[in-house]
Amino acid sequence: MSIIQEVITKTQRQDADQPEFHQAVKEVLETLEPTAEKHPEFVRAKIYERIVEPDRAILFRVPWVDDRGEVQVNRGFRVQFNNAIGPYKGGLRFHPSVTLSIMKFLGFEQTFKNSLTTLPMGGAKGGADFDPKGKSDEEVMRFCQAFTRELFRHIGPDTDVPAGDIGVGGREIGYIYGYYKKIVNQHDGALTGKGLDYGGSLIRPEATGYGLVYFVAEMLATRGLDFSGKVVAISGAGNVAQYAMEKVNQLGGRVITLCDSSGTIVDEKGICDDKCEFVMELKNVRRGRIKEYADQYPVLCYIGKSVWDVIREQGIRVDIALPCATQNEIDGPNAEALVKNGCFCVAEGANMPSTPEAVQIFQDRGVLFAPGKAANAGGVATSGLEMTQNSIKLSWPREEVDQRLRQIMKNIHQVCLDASQTYGHKADYVMGANIAGFMKVARAMLACGVV
Ligand code: NDP
Repeated sequence: MSIIQEVITKTQRQDADQPEFHQAVKEVLETLEPTAEKHPEFVRAKIYERIVEPDRAILFRVPWVDDRGEVQVNRGFRVQFNNAIGPYKGGLRFHPSVTLSIMKFLGFEQTFKNSLTTLPMGGAKGGADFDPKGKSDEEVMRFCQAFTRELFRHIGPDTDVPAGDIGVGGREIGYIYGYYKKIVNQHDGALTGKGLDYGGSLIRPEATGYGLVYFVAEMLATRGLDFSGKVVAISGAGNVAQYAMEKVNQLGGRVITLCDSSGTIVDEKGICDDKCEFVMELKNVRRGRIKEYADQYPVLCYIGKSVWDVIREQGIRVDIALPCATQNEIDGPNAEALVKNGCFCVAEGANMPSTPEAVQIFQDRGVLFAPGKAANAGGVATSGLEMTQNSIKLSWPREEVDQRLRQIMKNIHQVCLDASQTYGHKADYVMGANIAGFMKVARAMLACGVV
């Protein structure tokens, strides 16, 4: 058995109740086999064993009081995975499905993603099994304050800099940062995704979605193609989905789907112009359900179905798929159906939205496939740019941040291609992203000794 297989087996045995974490470890490590052959020094220093263990995983109680005066108790997490190349950095997720397994999978993936951005950021992830849906603003604020009462002691601008993720947008970051600032009595930028008035960066809200589309534009260019006239399926209706939709529209593509956890809408005419604005107002201001789009415009809403189920069941033709909702949303049968319906490019806006079976299908059928750690790295990269602006106490204009984001996505695309080529798997973005992300972290761990 190879050293890599031994590490995968050991992880599965040690953490038997963490399926998402195993899935991520297996997916990454299996593509790293060639690095172990080429770098015996990594094997000797037990880099592969060390890289799957988080530096620490903090689990804490979050007690808060709801609007009826009742005490509620949630569970909070911060998994500080690896700080070999810079302070820990990674989002906070508030969703009832949050578990230690999901936090570890996301923190592990974040380590490689952050490395790919070329910026000095280690990997982390955190959050709570709290559901902001249906809560009043006051309840969300009280929860965020209770969460920060413990989180504050583990973070800081040179230690660990959290950001948003599912269920944690501008409102939540404001409440968390406001309370953090109150406790530590410093305005030190220890969170990113902040509002523009108190240290945020222009383009940060747009960055993950825009970056995803910039990455896809690079992939398409390798085949002499662009977005013009392409039919694009997007899942989700949150931060990543909204700005991916906006950028696809700007580049001449036609976005025909969106979803939330209640259902999917299909608008063959394209979700653009006033319809885009409607979605943003619906989701960001009124916090309503996607079905209301079908009440407003003459389209169908498929209640309880994912975008990928609807495409399979209705035989809808798409050129490009951008899953931007959550992990494991595209399974094998849905991947088969996408390819059958003409999809030739899939790029992950969400983290690990394709199951291993789906990834295999895309790769076997010659689909251009970009994993989340490369394709959605624009968000954390722009968070890195927010940290830099906070450190130098300056704000860069919109065009400058956008231009830097575009260049970073271009670079990530290139290093993925270069790494896959070096290791004999031309244009394999999965292997390329894993190896390129891994090499920098591994070299840094080696240089820092056994710590
Ligand atoms: P948001 O909370 O803003 O939006 C998530 C969207 O996905 C919502 O519309 C939500 O619907 C929908 N969704 C969630 N779970 C499901 C489900 N099981 N079935 C159908 N729809 C679902 O999150 P983000 O847009 O920020 O994040 C989306 C993904 O992108 C996540 O995987 C995240 O980790 C990843 N990501 C985000 C980054 C960022 O900068 N925000 C950076 C890199 C990756 P509902 O509201 O009904 O729950």
